[in-house]
Amino acid sequence: MLGVPNFRDGFSSNAWSTTIPGVALTLALSACSTTAGTDRDDDRPLVLTTFTVIADMAENVAADRVEVASLTRPGAEIHGYEPTPDDLVRGQDADLILENGLGLEAWFQQFTDRVDAPTAVLSEGIETIPVSSGGYEGEPNPHAWMSPDNALVYVDNIRDALTALDPEGEATYTEAAEAYKEEISEVGSYLETELSGVPESSRALVTCEGAFSYLARDAGLTERYLWPVNAEREGTPSRSPPSPSSSATMTCPPCSARAPSTTAPSGP
Ligand SMILES: [Zn+2]
Repeated sequence: MLGVPNFRDGFSSNAWSTTIPGVALTLALSACSTTAGTDRDDDRPLVLTTFTVIADMAENVAADRVEVASLTRPGAEIHGYEPTPDDLVRGQDADLILENGLGLEAWFQQFTDRVDAPTAVLSEGIETIPVSSGGYEGEPNPHAWMSPDNALVYVDNIRDALTALDPEGEATYTEAAEAYKEEISEVGSYLETELSGVPESSRALVTCEGAFSYLARDAGLTERYLWPVNAEREGTPSRSPPSPSSSATMTCPPCSARAPSTTAPSGP
């Protein structure tokens, strides 16, 4: 189900958040908000995202009116990422930061505490699913972007965030967002069509991290996974035991992250 994005509440409580409409145009015109960042030669506003999936979504809506870049690289651990000094320097150039929210970016607060740019939370308006087990039991499952239905909400939130940053681009962002949402909806329809040919008793999704709960819910799939959240370092498979070969470290694609060790728990 699609929620109505509440963009105002999507901003974090940093220094700019209460004045975003007022500063948005100024930021859009000046591009670089401080002199402490890098020497960018791009005069468009800089939109930083916490990870690459969000960057890809934002680029589809931005239509080249802003520069979009991901703080973390492809394959980086998202849940337990630790911002580097270079990240903080890049953050000084940012005019807007897009984060997933729902506790995905556990490291993000320490980053935004040091960066002045406003932040938009893209999961705002999502009907969340609680993590079913482990150390994060009861907390919202953060992998909301995995569902095409939820992705439409993300796109709306991106459109609103870009429009607040750059009001003159509203028509462009709105048009790009609608086109992108059509593509995403087609993916959802394709999935629905393909699954309709699968016997109901066989409609199951199996993966290492429980990152597909939203997709499973929307597509009518039974979900099975080894551990609920990559950030969890307890190493306790929640639904079925890992094979002996998986007892060291594994890569769990949903978050492009190294999975927790099942033999040597550590942090966070
Ligand atoms: Zn994850």
